[in-house]
Amino acid sequence: MGPILMPPAQYAHPFPGKTLIHTMPLGEIQNHWNGTPPPPGQSIDAFSYLIDPSTCVLVLPRVEDVGQHYLDLLTQHETAHCNGWPYDHPGATLPSF
Ligand SMILES: [Zn+2]
Repeated sequence: MGPILMPPAQYAHPFPGKTLIHTMPLGEIQNHWNGTPPPPGQSIDAFSYLIDPSTCVLVLPRVEDVGQHYLDLLTQHETAHCNGWPYDHPGATLPSF
């Protein structure tokens, strides 16, 4: 877990299609990234992908693993990727806690 980059305003909105949420233990999500180390200073605590242009899949940790506030931030971050925010995070800002 670490600071979560927040998307610029144009990507910070609900996904306009259908969102499917998969919840799994935090350790299992991190294990998905075996062989693909996260960028320096970042941890991979969630991920997202489009299965078609109107269906966004969010893979999120359990609330008991990360707490509701962190889970909310992860959800906003991953939803922004489904909205087209590139994975190198242009325009990101850090949230104020
Ligand atoms: Zn991201």
